[in-house]
Amino acid sequence: MNRREELTAAAEANAGFAPAVVDGIAQKFAWPGGYPIGYIVDDGETLCADCVNDPSNPVHFEGDRDGWLIWGFQVYEGSAEDYDGAVVCAHCGAVLVEPCSPENDEAMAEEAQRTTDRDPSDSDEDKMRRAGAEHGRAVASWYFDGNTDRATYARTLRGIEEGDPEILDTLPSAPLSGEWADEPTPASVFRDVLEADEAEYDERGESDDLLTAYEEAFSTAAADAIEAAARAQLAP
Ligand SMILES: [Zn+2]
Repeated sequence: MNRREELTAAAEANAGFAPAVVDGIAQKFAWPGGYPIGYIVDDGETLCADCVNDPSNPVHFEGDRDGWLIWGFQVYEGSAEDYDGAVVCAHCGAVLVEPCSPENDEAMAEEAQRTTDRDPSDSDEDKMRRAGAEHGRAVASWYFDGNTDRATYARTLRGIEEGDPEILDTLPSAPLSGEWADEPTPASVFRDVLEADEAEYDERGESDDLLTAYEEAFSTAAADAIEAAARAQLAP
C-alpha cells in the first residue's frame, strides 16, 4: 500500500481519524475554520501533515509504538498559550502554532485580562500566577536571537534537562527586582493584576504568597518556553 492507501484505510477503520483525511491525504488545515491540524504520535509528539503524507517517513496507524504510530489528530484552535508553548512538527520543525512573540504579547495580555475579568471565581493567586507566567514567556522570547547557533541551543537544552547551574543561572528570574525601569515591581503588579491600590499593597504586599506565586510562575514559564524553543530548533 502506498501512503494514500494507508491513510484511506486508516480513515475507514477509525471514524475519529476520518475528518483529518481527504482523498487519502492528511490535511494541513481543518475545515471549516482553517485551524492547523497536528498528528499525534505514540510518544506524544506532533507531526505536521506534510510529514504524515511523505512516504519516506515510516508513519503507520497500527502496530508498534516506535514514535511513528499515529494515534490521532488535533486541531489547534488556540494560541501557544493554550498549549504551553509553540507547537512544532517533531520531525521537520514546521511551526503549527506560533510561539509567543513580543508582537502578540500585548494582544494576549489583553485577552488574559478579559478572561480574568470574566471569571469571578479566579483567586488572586490564580491571577498572579497567570500574569507571572505570561511575563515569563514574554521575557523568554528574548533569550535566543536570530544568530543563536545550534550548539548553543543544544547546550542550553542539556543544561535545563540536567539542572546545570551554569545554564539555570542564565534563565530569567526575579522579575520584580525593579532592576529595569520599565519592568514591573511588586507594587505595580498589585496595581495592574489585582487592581489593588497603594494602601492595599502596603497591607498585603510583603506578607502573603501572591508575589511568590507570580515569581514562581514567571520562572517556570520562562524556563519551559526556552526549553521548548531550543527543542524546536534542534528537531531533526
Ligand atoms: Zn513535519
